[in-house]
Amino acid sequence: MKVIHPVPKLGINYFIMLGILKRKGEKVKKDRSGIKVGIPKFLNIWGTHQFWVGFFNHLGIKVVFSSDTSEEQYRQYGKGRITMDSCFPVKALAGHIGELLAKNVDILFVPMIYSLPSFLRGHVLDTVSCTRVMMAPENIKAGFTREKDEFSSRGVRFISPFVTFGEPELLPKQLYEALKEFLDLSYQEVTQAVKHGLRSLEDFDAYIRGKSLEIVKWCVKENKPAILVLARPYHMDTGIGHEIDVEFQTYGYPVLWYNYLPLDDWLLNWLFGQEVKAGIIKSPFDISDVWTSSYSSNTNEIIWAAKFACRFPWITGVIRLSSYECGMDQPTFTPVQKIVESRGTLYFKFGELDETKPAGSIKIRVETIVYYLEKYSADIINKKLSMLPPLPKELS
Ligand code: SF4
Repeated sequence: MKVIHPVPKLGINYFIMLGILKRKGEKVKKDRSGIKVGIPKFLNIWGTHQFWVGFFNHLGIKVVFSSDTSEEQYRQYGKGRITMDSCFPVKALAGHIGELLAKNVDILFVPMIYSLPSFLRGHVLDTVSCTRVMMAPENIKAGFTREKDEFSSRGVRFISPFVTFGEPELLPKQLYEALKEFLDLSYQEVTQAVKHGLRSLEDFDAYIRGKSLEIVKWCVKENKPAILVLARPYHMDTGIGHEIDVEFQTYGYPVLWYNYLPLDDWLLNWLFGQEVKAGIIKSPFDISDVWTSSYSSNTNEIIWAAKFACRFPWITGVIRLSSYECGMDQPTFTPVQKIVESRGTLYFKFGELDETKPAGSIKIRVETIVYYLEKYSADIINKKLSMLPPLPKELS
């Protein structure tokens, strides 16, 4: 019998949480309440959305996001707009842009995100985005302008600034240059709005990681296994990740996402402290022992989370999601699997995800995986516990 898990799930209600942490803006001097900015909910907007909400709210501007990706959205608004062959997460952007055009926004804001905010900054070589992510706005824009300019014909401004969250001190200049022509803004205002956005993003991050910690503590207290999803942030989009994590929740398994694991010192010292002491790694955030070309932000975090999952006893299964034609994921499959399995954690991959949800095959695979989880989780927990120091007081 299926049991609905009592622990709050992560991922699916992620965007609904947008409203929860809205910061109160300082008083905005100019009235911009009539301006509607549309932001497509695509690719790395999934990891930076709260910044954009905080930034535009501080300027007194309303933000409208597109819906989750869906086959209908893609068929209705996106098909025929694609000018290059690519992975589906990039192609799906066309549907999001078409949907926002139909919502009569004044500005379509589609940032080219060069680098990402990451808790691993300082421990890795860089935190850049996949090149397809960076270039997606310009690529997709071409599909809306090659015959007729669909933006200017509707009086919509298409703004696509190059932004570097890896060097946040550059953000005010990048955003001021992009917006000054269309909005009556001062550089100072933009600088304040950037600060506001970054604080909003930090608050949101801390909030979700706190929720993950609740799940971790619950698993320890109840001695129940959990599942970790290793993916890209946009696999939280129901039309990109196809809600595979939800299938596991219906079987009673709480799901943690790789990009929101708890980062509390006491927890990381418990999991990684022995290796730090032995000089194998410099800190709990060091991934150089398993991954030397640490340039890509999402990939670095996937690798780090694989190390976390391999050590944390109550994560007994890891689900890897990957999209069709993802060149970035290919070289990571074997190393990630090896890391995860090195202390006995079970590893399962759902690769080649595309626009169509293969509902039947997902269900069959989930049932099979659940069988293995039920059979082996207790042994995995005990084995992994035996390889760690005693439980920290926060978990006992
Ligand atoms: S990381 Fe993979 S799925 Fe994501 S945009 Fe790049 S190629 Fe596409």
